[in-house]
Amino acid sequence: MKRRPLIAGNWKMHLNISQAKELAEQIKQSALKAANCDVMLAPSFTLLPALAEILKNSGVILAGQNVCGAESGAFTGEISPLMLKELGCEMVIVGHSERRHIFHEDDSMINKRLLGAMEHNLTPILCIGEILEAREAGKTFSILEEQVRGGLQDVKVTNPQTLIIAYEPVWAIGTGKTASVEQAQEVHTFVRSILTDIFDKTIASQLRILYGGSVKPDNISRLMAQNDIDGALVGGASLKFYSFDQLINFS
Ligand code: PEP
Repeated sequence: MKRRPLIAGNWKMHLNISQAKELAEQIKQSALKAANCDVMLAPSFTLLPALAEILKNSGVILAGQNVCGAESGAFTGEISPLMLKELGCEMVIVGHSERRHIFHEDDSMINKRLLGAMEHNLTPILCIGEILEAREAGKTFSILEEQVRGGLQDVKVTNPQTLIIAYEPVWAIGTGKTASVEQAQEVHTFVRSILTDIFDKTIASQLRILYGGSVKPDNISRLMAQNDIDGALVGGASLKFYSFDQLINFS
């Protein structure tokens, strides 16, 4: 079955308020033409109020880049799912490789974040991905299975719109290297088989699995032509209008 693609921009720790407003205005106009896919933006937390204003009723989905599992409390430096909801977020990225590798977030912490998001009707995008050494050592599938099962511990899904997975090979993020479409499709099929085991075939066949890692205008069409690739999580190319515009209007 064909799932509606999602093209998601992760702005990471980039852009000041005026740069963000200008880019969001441009993306909003372009997204009106992007009939083929859903469009999402995950800016820095400080940019969320400005983007919420600009993107109101535009159809562009606003997302956080991370979320705490708890609603409130003594968690300095964290952000609550309720706070993201209050600012208009509908989705949130969890377990991004930069969170895993720079800030040492493990599967158990990522699982708490994901459960907190789902409890408050924020759709989590659970990022998974292997480092180069793991791929070279033939451990890609075992690592990914561990990340999927660990991240989805105790998760119940009845509506397939409430959970998204993003496969992002760490060696392809921000490096200009993309997994070949065959490598990406092979992993996506594998991940969907794990999701079938965790949930069931009906749910797994409807969950969106995005690919991320140096997605650009020149590789989006080939990636999107694969059966199990349901969209892209995009870093660098989401920061420039000319490239993100081509991604959301891919054909
Ligand atoms: C990302 O940050 O999730 C990402 C995929 O980055 P890039 O597109 O720059 O590789």
